[in-house]
Amino acid sequence: MSLLELQAVGKRFGGLKALDDVSFTIDSGEMVGLMGANGAGKTTLFSLVAGNERPSAGEIRLDGRSLVGRRADQVAARGIARTFQIVRPFRGLTVRENARIGALFGSAERRPDAADEFALSILADVGLADRADALAGSLTLAGQKRLEIARALAQRPRLLLLDEVMAGLTPTEIADAMAMIRRIKEKHGLTVLVIEHVMSALMDLCQRIIVLHHGMKIAEGTPQAIARDPRVLDAYLGVE
Ligand code: ATP
Repeated sequence: MSLLELQAVGKRFGGLKALDDVSFTIDSGEMVGLMGANGAGKTTLFSLVAGNERPSAGEIRLDGRSLVGRRADQVAARGIARTFQIVRPFRGLTVRENARIGALFGSAERRPDAADEFALSILADVGLADRADALAGSLTLAGQKRLEIARALAQRPRLLLLDEVMAGLTPTEIADAMAMIRRIKEKHGLTVLVIEHVMSALMDLCQRIIVLHHGMKIAEGTPQAIARDPRVLDAYLGVE
């Protein structure tokens, strides 16, 4: 059985179809990329899966059980964590306190001391252990992106949704982030769905890529197949 299954998922915002009839499955242990131009519906898809928004149509299942109608904290408790494209850490709290909030969300950990300890171990995994007691607002963008991943990871997810965690980073920071993502995937036995505009990173990280265009899935396959898919090339070259 697939870990995650989307079946004919749609999302309308008034007259706008942000997602239309999107179906795919993700198996346990996969790292899958979600690609598409601005406004293609990638972030909306994450919001539906994570319970931040409700689909207008279709089914979303984790381990065969429907997630539709579940609140974000209930989805988190079932094992899904997401990062947000625009990172908004509690700037006046320390890095460690921010990570601890993740550990408490969705009741991943109920005991405050254990949450603190777990938060610290997660900070080490994302390379922020030495900044644990610094204020989150003092981190660089790359640091804040790492903290965003730590917050999600502290929820003890099985499925991690990463939304443009490399946007705005330097090439060196991107290479470091990729190595870190591979490391945490192995260490925590994660399944990962990645949205990224840094195409080379997506091609390198993922075994499989799903392409959205105007809310519809237009292609799915290996990075090699996607790179030469005429529908994808047309979509990216703006040829309709
Ligand atoms: P980007 O790469 O720019 O982040 P995306 O592929 O993530 O784009 P979405 O953010 O999912 O795209 O947006 C898909 C469409 O839905 C866009 O036209 C967007 O304006 C619209 N949209 C998203 N959220 C809302 C909302 N809450 N209310 C109204 N329209 C929305």
